[in-house]
Amino acid sequence: MSDYDYDLFVIGGGSAGVRAARFSAGYGARVAIAEERYWGGTCVNVGCIPKKLFVYASHFAEDFRDAAGFGWDVGKPSFDWPTLRDNKTREIERLNGIYDHMLKNAGCDLHWGRARIVDAHTVAVGDKTLSARYILVAVGGWPFVPDIPGKEHVVTSNDAFFLEKLPERMVIVGGGYIAVEFAGIFHGLGVEVTQLYRGPRFLRGFDDDIRERLAIEMRRKGIDLRFNANLDAVLKEDGRTIACLDTGVELETDLVMYATGRKPLTAGIGLEEAGVALEKDGTIQVDEHFHTSVPSILALGDITEGPELTPVALAEGMAIARTLFDDRPTTVNYDLVPSAVFSQPPIASVGLTEAQARDRHGEGLDIFVSEFRALKNTLSGNEERTLMKLIVEQETDRVLGVHMIGPDAGEIVQGLAVALRAGATKAVFDATIGIHPTAAEEFVTMRQATRSGAREAAE
Ligand code: NDP
Repeated sequence: MSDYDYDLFVIGGGSAGVRAARFSAGYGARVAIAEERYWGGTCVNVGCIPKKLFVYASHFAEDFRDAAGFGWDVGKPSFDWPTLRDNKTREIERLNGIYDHMLKNAGCDLHWGRARIVDAHTVAVGDKTLSARYILVAVGGWPFVPDIPGKEHVVTSNDAFFLEKLPERMVIVGGGYIAVEFAGIFHGLGVEVTQLYRGPRFLRGFDDDIRERLAIEMRRKGIDLRFNANLDAVLKEDGRTIACLDTGVELETDLVMYATGRKPLTAGIGLEEAGVALEKDGTIQVDEHFHTSVPSILALGDITEGPELTPVALAEGMAIARTLFDDRPTTVNYDLVPSAVFSQPPIASVGLTEAQARDRHGEGLDIFVSEFRALKNTLSGNEERTLMKLIVEQETDRVLGVHMIGPDAGEIVQGLAVALRAGATKAVFDATIGIHPTAAEEFVTMRQATRSGAREAAE
């Protein structure tokens, strides 16, 4: 080991890289980490954290309306975008500082600048060339915008966090996590939002009942949600922005935001020259211990296949640190990864959707669905409805999937993910005493299957 400057050189200071660096250093490894943009990566700077702050901000609009039914008169609320934007930025800067401290306290050497792989054991950053026994690539992804005329006029989620001015009208393209989350955020902040999705139903991969209910709720709140809708071009004419649909319809708007997926940032950092095999889309194939085709170069997080989720990246970083420097070979189990979409109302799920369960387990399923108006909405007058769903395999009684759309879905499903990981059966759910009055208790009181079998195959 001592022939190298470091035991581990991490390229990329996002969730995955920082986790691997800190814990490896904690296990006694000599660690360096390079970052060129911001400590904390996408999640801290232009993802999970500022997004959740914006979700809180935007939900106040509905909360103020709901308050009236409980006797409150809050007057006419007004909203100031620069206050939110700048308070958010200050909080993110505070978090950047915490990451910097954590890495230094762990004993890592920090290198600011773009790092480039020179060979299987060498990295160049700034004017330094450093050697390492292992190089870990954790450079993350970047929003992808398809090539359309007028591409230069559109923004992505990266820009949406820093807009100079809140637009009056906005078109959001895409039907994944980011598109629905930002449609809810900007609608709540008072923007007239049109969301365009290219297929017949958005949020591919989520349970159909949940996808349908979210579409109903978003439209009810006032979002102009259009399916089977594609943009051909974005024009700027006399200061006006025109979104041109492939049907010939032209939408005049103030801002077009694309949320059409993300691509790995793996180009131009010396990977191919060092012999690392890249997929066509830029992702890197790794084995179960995250080694690339060059054994001393490892990769993890959003640049590898698998869910692009912070907790998954953290688990991967942890596994690498334990495997390489704590003599505990560790892999990551990608089954039953829970996730939430912070749409309004939010969605969360763990396990199989009804369609996936049928594909894998056939017709022997019991489906429990409960749809109701939450207690709070009886007085608020808010018509939003909650939906909860369990997918149960008849033969084993195992709960294969838990799905929810409604307030606090992420908080509730996180707990149930533990139950599924432990292999809970429906009988265990039934034997669990509820907490009353909550929405969550519904998950342990669904006695009668809504239907048996399943409706349709996975898309
Ligand atoms: P997603 O992959 O979730 O969604 C991309 C969307 O864009 C899909 O609806 C896709 O449609 C559509 N799309 C793709 N290409 C085109 C195109 N050329 N023209 C029109 N539409 C297109 O990506 P996001 O950008 O929303 O988010 C990236 C990832 O970040 C997510 O997958 C998720 O893993 C992570 N994330 C997680 C969050 C959370 O945990 N709450 C929040 C935000 C992001 P189709 O389905 O038809 O392919």
